[in-house]
Amino acid sequence: LLSLVILLDSKAQQTELEWISYPPNGWEEISGLDENYTPIRTYQVCQVMEPNQNNWLRTNWIEKGDAQRIFVELKFTLRDCNSLPGVVGTCKETFNLYYQETDSEVGRSLRENQYVKIDTIAADESFTQGDLGERKMKLNTELRIIGPLSRRGFYLAFQDVGACIALVSVKVYYKKCWSIIENLATFPDTVTGSEFSSLVEVEGMCVSDAEEEADNSPKMHCSAEGEWLVPIGKCICRAGFHQKGDASPSQVSEVIKEKVQQRSVQLSWQEPQQPNGVITEYEIKYYEKDRIYSTVRSKSTSATVNNLKPSTAYVFQIRAFTEAGYGTYGPRVEITTKEENTGTHTFTHTYPSPLLDITLSSWLMLSLVQFFTCLIKLVSFSHFHHLKSCLHQHCGYSKADQEGDEELYFQFKFPGTKTYIDPETYEDPNRAVHQFAKELDASCIKIERVIGAGEFGEVCSGRLKLPGKRDVSVAIKTLKVGYTEKQRRDFLCEASIMGQFDHPNVVHLEGVVTRGKPVMIVIEYMENGSLDAFLRKHDGQFTVIQLVGMLRGIAAGMRYLSDMGYVHRDLAARNILVNSNLVCKVSDFGLSRVIDDDPEAVYTTTGGKIPVRWTAPEAIQYRKFTSASDVWSYGIVMWEVMSYGERPYWDMSNQDVIKAIEEGYRLPAPMDCPPGLHQLMLDCWQKDRAERPKFDQIVGILDKMIRNPNTLKTPVGTCTRPISPLLDQSTPDFTAFRSVGEWLEAIKMERYRDNFTAAGYSSLESVARMSIEDVMRLGITLVGHQKKIMSSIQTTRAQMLHLHGTGVQV
Ligand code: AMP
Repeated sequence: LLSLVILLDSKAQQTELEWISYPPNGWEEISGLDENYTPIRTYQVCQVMEPNQNNWLRTNWIEKGDAQRIFVELKFTLRDCNSLPGVVGTCKETFNLYYQETDSEVGRSLRENQYVKIDTIAADESFTQGDLGERKMKLNTELRIIGPLSRRGFYLAFQDVGACIALVSVKVYYKKCWSIIENLATFPDTVTGSEFSSLVEVEGMCVSDAEEEADNSPKMHCSAEGEWLVPIGKCICRAGFHQKGDASPSQVSEVIKEKVQQRSVQLSWQEPQQPNGVITEYEIKYYEKDRIYSTVRSKSTSATVNNLKPSTAYVFQIRAFTEAGYGTYGPRVEITTKEENTGTHTFTHTYPSPLLDITLSSWLMLSLVQFFTCLIKLVSFSHFHHLKSCLHQHCGYSKADQEGDEELYFQFKFPGTKTYIDPETYEDPNRAVHQFAKELDASCIKIERVIGAGEFGEVCSGRLKLPGKRDVSVAIKTLKVGYTEKQRRDFLCEASIMGQFDHPNVVHLEGVVTRGKPVMIVIEYMENGSLDAFLRKHDGQFTVIQLVGMLRGIAAGMRYLSDMGYVHRDLAARNILVNSNLVCKVSDFGLSRVIDDDPEAVYTTTGGKIPVRWTAPEAIQYRKFTSASDVWSYGIVMWEVMSYGERPYWDMSNQDVIKAIEEGYRLPAPMDCPPGLHQLMLDCWQKDRAERPKFDQIVGILDKMIRNPNTLKTPVGTCTRPISPLLDQSTPDFTAFRSVGEWLEAIKMERYRDNFTAAGYSSLESVARMSIEDVMRLGITLVGHQKKIMSSIQTTRAQMLHLHGTGVQV
């Protein structure tokens, strides 16, 4: 029986909270996911670059009811200022909590001087260092108590003075002692007192046919924690009535452990020695030590208590109930549930026996909540790691312990006003490096082996051990000996750019070594290397959800970069790195000319080298590189991922690719690619760059797909990997033609009508299933015609799938 009465629980609210925020660029309401991947509403602020911040946030009016002592529980994340480059002096690590009492709702204006300060709130923890050295956001919980309150209600307010905070949950409640019958007297629901130490004295009312004992009226005391304490006095039976025996039923003292399982305990007991009436039921109270208790009831002398945690010590006490009320509890019986199996946990719940009726329907509520939490988790987890951990954990419990989970609580753009600074704007490039990158002592770095070749020298793996920190795996890019000053500058330029970023889906820079030789750039180690090679190595081995999870990560990284005003220009699967948890991170930063290093980049007529297959037409034609051209490239990355590292446009020449795109052709859906994903690719490849989705929208669309995996289902047995590569966007809807004849007419190949009829292809469906061999067997000898027919077959097949959802078996 929980003794809490909830007045406000921001996490329970699914619609917008719509609290008042002032000024407008301060606190912002942002949707997020909690540690169980359940959607929640959060308020975030991160004005750490500008001095003199004074950002206010006020809740809606909270009617206090009969409460006197109010508990305010805050859950929040707070970034440590050290983790944010360039904020020395302006960045804070606390915020202030206030309240204002009123008798009714006041307007939506915020007047600071009306608020009473409750406390300055600091984080117990901001960041923790994870296993791989990555920084993880830590969820803090702080509890404050206000009261005594005298007005009908109040507001809470949060004042930010320049910190980077995400307010994940605000819960406001008070405590109550729930009504009970004791010593033949009923005691009503009672609100706890206003002071921590206060006991509220409550008069009992005698049950029917009972009366107060002379000079000994029944009293109980309600403690601040919502517990009944210190019973005094009692009621006795009126003349002519009598309680059987001297008291209410006597204790249930002989309790037998029948069966102890991981999640349930079966008990049986003897009827009390003096039942003093007809026992109508028993109440079994149980609790984890020092925890709030729960009860179940049984009409017989046995019961199974379900839904317990494995390997946990519980205390059980039983009492009997007659019409005179409850007897006293028997002695405490301590039972530890069995250890959890290490194997996969299956979602089976034993339903309670019909004899058990659970107080407050708590069991049902809990099971439902846990079931749905798990369901949400299962469908929203993007990586198989997450899935695995979900299956291994108890339902309803999950720690935000995966790399990349930082986003759970911290979705906002840091810092609101921060933009990417082009290192070229620095006169002294060395200053740029040291503004954005930490100089590391070479003695902290241990090079282990060569893992690749970069433009400027070898890429190695190794370990970085900073004083007072755990050593972490790193990749070390070295600058080869005999470099020119320009090469050194260009090499370090990548560090000057990377050092400005801080996002779980952007490769993290540990630091640089410039005051020693070799000159080195030290980056977090990404165990699985570049994404294109990784996918080719694991062709066909991931679920669609896993692939979409990777795409989601890349989109989130790009959203962050585009919010900072950074245009990547060379987004491609080969420039995405993958770590051991399958987290994808954007990498390969450089100035425009650094693209020259990309082996895919070729010289175009407009000058400069460009990776044609990944680049938007306006960037190829007149070097218009923007976040919208990055979105085009992102569409190509989507295609690479869904086809497990296939080369975009296969073996077509760059010139043919440029021409085909200009004519409106686009890459078709890769094999087994859900139509919704291909549609998103096509949206990224809109000719008009203003029509393309923004990264923010892409993340939203992918999140939706991950949460509703049904949208990712491809009809079974469809095969859309084409022989002729391109879909013409201006092609008519072939599936609208009713006969093979009409279809051939539309593609100006009606001369082969008889060939099709003779071979028995009488329906469009049968034509859509044809392979190139089938087409050749028709006796069509001209290669150009074979190609044209085959390409139209491919398009028809794709249209049947995309427009009508009817897959074609091949
Ligand atoms: P780059 O010069 O950045 O293209 O790096 C060359 C190769 O080194 C890449 O293709 C990767 O295989 C590898 N590499 C680069 N950075 C990392 C890293 N942070 N972790 C693991 N491997 C990396």
